[in-house]
Amino acid sequence: MMKSGKQRRREIKAARQCRAAKAQQALAISPPLGFRPGAALAVHPERLAAYNSYGEPPFVARGWYEDQPFRCRDCGKDQVWTAAQQQWWYEVVQGSVYAGAVRCRACRLLRRQGGRPQNTA
Ligand SMILES: [Zn+2]
Repeated sequence: MMKSGKQRRREIKAARQCRAAKAQQALAISPPLGFRPGAALAVHPERLAAYNSYGEPPFVARGWYEDQPFRCRDCGKDQVWTAAQQQWWYEVVQGSVYAGAVRCRACRLLRRQGGRPQNTA
């Protein structure tokens, strides 16, 4: 029996809803603490440093940068790596897409000067 046009439309609609649900799931990565939607910036994959060895980084799959809290590895202070800083690092400096923030600005400067970090933790 031939499928009616109505039935085919129903199937197309169901497939579309299925794709939409999958896209929703992809976006459902829970935002980090302190996430402000206004601070999100679009990812421009064509501007990133080349990658392929470990697959697509999560922020590329997600499609935007968002403020990311982290704890400084040296002094233990809670910091935020902002969406703008991430975009600068990945797209302007073309830093490694697998690298993230690990140290606060003060500790990075200290390291660059060859000084010892102050451990206040
Ligand atoms: Zn620090």
